[in-house]
Amino acid sequence: MKPVLYRGRFAPSPSGSLHFGSLLTALGSFLDAKSQGGEWRLRIDDLDPPRVAPGATDAILRALQAYGLEWDGAVLYQSQRAGAYQAALDALRASGAVYACGCTRREIADSNAGQENAAIYPGTCRNGLPQGKAARAWRLDTRGACMRIEDRLQGAIEQDLERISGDFVLQRADGLFAYQLAAVVDDAELGITDVVRGADLIDSSLRQVYVQQLLGLANPRYLHLPVVVNAAGEKLSKQTLAPGLDLSHPQKTLIQALSLLNQSPPQDMTRASVAEILAWAGAHWHLERLPPVRHLSPAA
Ligand code: GLU
Repeated sequence: MKPVLYRGRFAPSPSGSLHFGSLLTALGSFLDAKSQGGEWRLRIDDLDPPRVAPGATDAILRALQAYGLEWDGAVLYQSQRAGAYQAALDALRASGAVYACGCTRREIADSNAGQENAAIYPGTCRNGLPQGKAARAWRLDTRGACMRIEDRLQGAIEQDLERISGDFVLQRADGLFAYQLAAVVDDAELGITDVVRGADLIDSSLRQVYVQQLLGLANPRYLHLPVVVNAAGEKLSKQTLAPGLDLSHPQKTLIQALSLLNQSPPQDMTRASVAEILAWAGAHWHLERLPPVRHLSPAA
């Protein structure tokens, strides 16, 4: 069997339909994979039931198909992977890398009052649960974790996790596993070699590299694409009321996305089929033309 040299993935959260920003990420990761003869897998990040919008998963699958972004293999659903996440957490517990935390949100906010980064956990339970406290969440000890990635677009990025993220949660008080753990376990399960996603996830990538290291897993390569922002500079999302993708004119939207990624699609491509546009784009995918920025506005 030929070894897979490139396996990428797209991992939308089904909190709503895909919008232009998610298309840009999906398209970038798809083309990066296809231009290298690689596979492109699909994972649905439905880890957090209250955040799953009814019908959103189906809408995402339909939108990807309408845009010709056909994934390889079976879809991986995070909602079906609790056993694998538990096993990874158990391994981290056995190695002493995680600890039980008994603090409530209120207590964390109170002990951080007035601090520059109020969301960072102050480390209260690092040396054991205070008397009378029960374990609520499991946190990763980030002391001494200075991580670095060589992003294929954004260049070298370094972070002292203790300062930037603090000891982050891997299993929440409600028993749900955190995205940071789930993403690492799933990327390893699928044998992902290349993670191509939005620059809003750069901090997550540095945390995930640490979790990979602690679990003895390979680090994938990373490429963080610019995030599409609206006129107010906000990331397109359900919260910022970004419209869902128009499934009736995928050609036009694909060409807009390729132009925004600086891939210079020929103007007469608007009359081509979705398959022709994607074939052209895969054959003419130029990494060096991608804008090496973290935010992009289509209006600019
Ligand atoms: N589900 C995450 C999101 O939509 C992306 C996860 C990933 O690429 O690992 O922001």
